[in-house]
Amino acid sequence: MTVTRREFIGIGAATAAGLTLHRPARAEILERSGDRVGDFAGPPVVVASANGIRGVARAYDMITKQNADTLDAIIAGVNIEELDPDDQAVGLGGLPNEEGVVELDASCMHGPTKRAGAVAALQDIATPSNVAKAVMDYTDHILLVGPGAKKFALEMGFKEQNLLTEKSRQDWLRWKACLNPNDNWLDNPGTPPPADKVAYDDPLHVKFTTGTINMNAVNSRGDISSVTTTSGRAWKLPGRVGDSPLVGAGQYCDNTVGAAGSTGRGEANIKVCGAFLIVEFMRQGMTPEQACLRTIERVVALTEPRLLDRNGRPLFDLEFYALAKDGRFGAASAYEGGQFSVADASGARLVPMAFKYSRAQRPMMPEVSCRRA
Ligand code: ASP
Repeated sequence: MTVTRREFIGIGAATAAGLTLHRPARAEILERSGDRVGDFAGPPVVVASANGIRGVARAYDMITKQNADTLDAIIAGVNIEELDPDDQAVGLGGLPNEEGVVELDASCMHGPTKRAGAVAALQDIATPSNVAKAVMDYTDHILLVGPGAKKFALEMGFKEQNLLTEKSRQDWLRWKACLNPNDNWLDNPGTPPPADKVAYDDPLHVKFTTGTINMNAVNSRGDISSVTTTSGRAWKLPGRVGDSPLVGAGQYCDNTVGAAGSTGRGEANIKVCGAFLIVEFMRQGMTPEQACLRTIERVVALTEPRLLDRNGRPLFDLEFYALAKDGRFGAASAYEGGQFSVADASGARLVPMAFKYSRAQRPMMPEVSCRRA
């Protein structure tokens, strides 16, 4: 058998992504099928942010062993973290807004039926991803927010519960206590948490301010879905909505091309419609990783000076994840050091992300300090 240069390049890229390759490269498939990209299917794959590692394993099992729908599978995947009170980035136990109220955002897209649903600033319901899917399944709308979203969720039978765990309440109190020396809150009360419980080296022991799960899956028929769920930026203004519930920003899926999503500073992503842009870049022929990196570059180009260091590098981080219809995947962040979750025939594992700037180039991040979010 002779291997053309194009096939050889395709084999190299997919092997680097950990895939077993006995199929032609995507570029060749596109060439053969014209614009009928939707006809092609590869191996089942699930990708997510690093905190979705348990979720990708569950979703992959559901897709491959139970023939589950891709969206049902990834929502079951993110439910693990949404319902885990120790995960402070999503659902139950998520870090609250500046008034100590947990407000959740989520959105999803179902490739084969070309549908989408989302909720934002949803209170008292632990699994906003399921509520987003219910908006998709049962309404003629795409996005419900605040009290309207909650009313809808209750009507759909979701359980109302207090989402503020004691651990997150203590973190919120610590943030309040050191917010401003001139306010009427006392200094940091009680003893600081053990060092291994502090997410970064902050002398005031205030926890990180961001966290989200994005998850995307493709099955062996080439059907694709995406979901993103979050408690958003900690200590946010009540009513603040990030990128996660915005279709095209926090996640996006086109069944003929692939899916993408993000975690990190939502305000930076919203301006570039990151998930949509990545899918469009993949449609133009970029690999998932190239598409994520190019979108990071777009984010930097659209960042206002107050959020750049003197070298023009962002003072925040943002991560993108992408999955192509043929099973290739990739992710990228602004700064070196990130990982993302993958589940495929080789198992569930963490994979290093591509990055634009090295660890040494990373400036001090003011966002992870004792300031108003
Ligand atoms: N993207 C989320 C938001 O802006 C937060 C995060 O991922 O850290 O709401």
